[in-house]
Amino acid sequence: MIDWKDKREFWIAGARVADPESGRLRAGSVCVQKGIITEVAWQRVTGTELPVLEADGYVLAPGFVDIHTHLREPGNEEKETIKTGTAAAVAGGYTSIVCMANTDPVIDKPSVVEFILRETERSGSCRVFVTAALTRGLEGEIINEYGFLKEAGAIALSDDGNYVTNSQVMRSALEYARFLDLPVISHCEDPFLSGGTHMNEGYSSTRLGMRGSPAAAEEIAVARDIRLSQLTGSRLHIAHISTAGSVDLVKRAKKSSIPVTAEVTPHHLTMEDTLLESYDTSLKTNPPLRGRKDIDALCAGLGDGTIDCIATDHAPHNVIDKEVEFDLAPPGMIGLETAFALLNTRLVQTGTIELIDLIRLLTSNPARVLGLPGGRIVKGEKADLALLDPEAKWVVEAGNLRSKSRNTPLVGTELTGRVEGVFLEGKWINVVP
Ligand SMILES: [Zn+2]
Repeated sequence: MIDWKDKREFWIAGARVADPESGRLRAGSVCVQKGIITEVAWQRVTGTELPVLEADGYVLAPGFVDIHTHLREPGNEEKETIKTGTAAAVAGGYTSIVCMANTDPVIDKPSVVEFILRETERSGSCRVFVTAALTRGLEGEIINEYGFLKEAGAIALSDDGNYVTNSQVMRSALEYARFLDLPVISHCEDPFLSGGTHMNEGYSSTRLGMRGSPAAAEEIAVARDIRLSQLTGSRLHIAHISTAGSVDLVKRAKKSSIPVTAEVTPHHLTMEDTLLESYDTSLKTNPPLRGRKDIDALCAGLGDGTIDCIATDHAPHNVIDKEVEFDLAPPGMIGLETAFALLNTRLVQTGTIELIDLIRLLTSNPARVLGLPGGRIVKGEKADLALLDPEAKWVVEAGNLRSKSRNTPLVGTELTGRVEGVFLEGKWINVVP
């Protein structure tokens, strides 16, 4: 464990410094003064009068940025609060998260945006950026007053959890958002095709006798929204893409210079629908876990830049919600605390991607997608950093999770790669208990 006092000016030396923009991951030293990165040296610092934090064996990365978190507050504080959700984020190496609008009340009024920002200041452990709803009450009918929402602090718009089925409403929303330079995040799912389903439609759903949602339910929605982005010239970000067909649609859209970006979750990259044969309700997600072919396409999409970033879709549910028959369980799993270790274990250690690429997909890329600060280790930036031990092994234990919820299928699983702690604006927060 790093023993580090509450210093305001210091060097971090001995670690491999990850600079995702240049692709560099090598020995370096970083100077932090009053919360700002004031120097990056690609060698070990010598002869300094400032205290030096010896971080040999670690990787110093920009603090992770999660652009898809459900904080549940206001309204469902029994599942998660801003306090516990941001603590979970920090435990996972995140220094910035973007929360989704499907709270109760929905984030469709400036007062709710203000509430979240104020509550973050009071009880939060990391930065929280707010996504406001596209339509009133997430009902897909009446467009919200984006200007006021932006003034209150919203940085993006989304009805995540719901698809805006009315194409005219979505078109107007995209046009209005473009005026205000707000990106629109779309949860792509044709609810008529996916309604009443509980998993991916395929071999496993047939074997289990469970109604499945076909890949087409997602792809139809992705195709429409790409076409509307082309029509309006508005920035569109597609949340949690999960099928080979969606990857192909985004790839073609990018080739045609349509302003579209896409994210994928850690679970869609690493977990197959065959796992549902255990009937573990924590594996029930929306979109559902898919088959091997889709997973391979998602990994290839990360490799060739079709998919811009990895976002957790951290979706807390308490035990009572999930300890029911599979059909009745709500979809979603928590992911903030295990994302780095899971991806490091299943993708980096297996040679699917390089560590520096994983770091880029968790930092500078998501920040760029939504135009957020951070995600880089450069002089002049705020010192939001994560200190990682990519070789350390640990077992996910329910009792050690900071999230209020426990709905992850990874409890009891050994993972490789640990977050030692983060610097939030230069202030050290220890993670390892
Ligand atoms: Zn969603």
